[in-house]
Amino acid sequence: MRRSITTLVSMLLLLSVAFASTTVYVTKTGSKYHTSSCRYLNKSKIAMTLTEAKRAYEACSVCKPPR
Ligand SMILES: [Zn+2]
Repeated sequence: MRRSITTLVSMLLLLSVAFASTTVYVTKTGSKYHTSSCRYLNKSKIAMTLTEAKRAYEACSVCKPPR
């Protein structure tokens, strides 16, 4: 039992690290964040972490970045 809790906790930690380091992109004027390959990024492409982006932007419905 104790072992499975430890495993669960370390998995959650790994997950949060993975999410914190995900890079997404926003444009100068847009209100959505995108994956690097999205076609909406042709005007401008500003990189930030997913955590930062989620504070001020919404996920793009075309390229479907992680939420
Ligand atoms: Zn997009």
